[in-house]
Amino acid sequence: MNKKGIQGRTIWMRSALFLLWLSVLTGCGGTGQSQDAAARDAAGDLTVGGQETPGREDGLTVEFMDVGQGDSTLILCEGEAMLIDAGDESSGTTIQKEMQKLGVEDLRYFVCTHPDADHIGGADVIAYKFPVETLLMPELERDTKAYEQLEDSITARDIKVIHPEAGETYDLGGGSFTIVGPVEQYGQDDANDWSVCLRFTYGELGFLFCGDAEEKAEEDMLAAGVPLEADVYHVSHHGSSSSTTEAFLQAVGPSYGVISCGRDNDYGHPHREVTEALTARQVQIYRTDQLGNIFCYSDGKALNWKGECDAAADGKADAEAGFSADETAGEEASGQKYVLNTNTKKIHLPECESVAQMRVKNRREIYAALEDLLEEGYDPCGNCMG
Ligand SMILES: [Zn+2]
Ligand SMILES: [Zn+2]
Repeated sequence: MNKKGIQGRTIWMRSALFLLWLSVLTGCGGTGQSQDAAARDAAGDLTVGGQETPGREDGLTVEFMDVGQGDSTLILCEGEAMLIDAGDESSGTTIQKEMQKLGVEDLRYFVCTHPDADHIGGADVIAYKFPVETLLMPELERDTKAYEQLEDSITARDIKVIHPEAGETYDLGGGSFTIVGPVEQYGQDDANDWSVCLRFTYGELGFLFCGDAEEKAEEDMLAAGVPLEADVYHVSHHGSSSSTTEAFLQAVGPSYGVISCGRDNDYGHPHREVTEALTARQVQIYRTDQLGNIFCYSDGKALNWKGECDAAADGKADAEAGFSADETAGEEASGQKYVLNTNTKKIHLPECESVAQMRVKNRREIYAALEDLLEEGYDPCGNCMG
């Protein structure tokens, strides 16, 4: 099968979108297991865990794992793997299994952004079970069980630990990442601001991961002038309003914001201020509490998304869930898919020539009623819709 063919890619994207829509429409709970299995069968090239998973041998796969209230993101780039954080104590084995499902045998890098339990709780399991070439973590020790257990695994497996500094660059497959934080030292109690922040790039695309870095760390990164621009922003600190300041968000300028947070978590994450700020900038929000594991596939030019939903067991996914209420409601109402250029404010049909040329940054795929888009100030493309 020629996965690189344009035809194949188009079908692949359509199946992905259909799956998303299907999973959003059917909700993630209850019989989610069998629907998920059926969805995977229908997915063809998209099948997760099979031999054809993109990213293992070619392309990029980023999986934002649903680890409840915590963070864990797996990046597979042309056969090499890195993991950023490992959720809380209860997530280690889940992450291990997920990695094995995707065929990961070892980690080139394991980034433990900061030693809070919701980021390194499962790290001891991962560091013990998988060969890790380099572990990156801030120079901040903690007197906690999670930290001690991670240290035990590091010692037992003799893992090389680096406390990275801003500006350092590391290769992963055909991609690479630059450390963008921390750029300062912080107090012992400010673990979040110590978060190792990195900007991963592959082809034309950038992804920003900043752990739980809060306002102070964001200010310092802005002042230091480190590169922050990204198409995909892993929204810091689970969408807490103590992070993602307006100035920081402006510097990042993402098209997509992924939020890792637990269903009905005690912190009220993500906070309304943050989701509103993202929405105001037309950033497409994807949340693990609504979509379960979230996959982002890329060839370095386009981004394709898939929400797995099989970890969402409480059936909370409703019209609000998943890939935005607009898309779901629009699909039900009109069945029409459009591609918006958020820069030129034009509406295109998916097959329009301009869509292929459009910068990812400006592109937004949506199921919506035309009149709603017109109301939002968009104009139909003269070629495909004229
Ligand atoms: Zn934290
Ligand atoms: Zn956290």
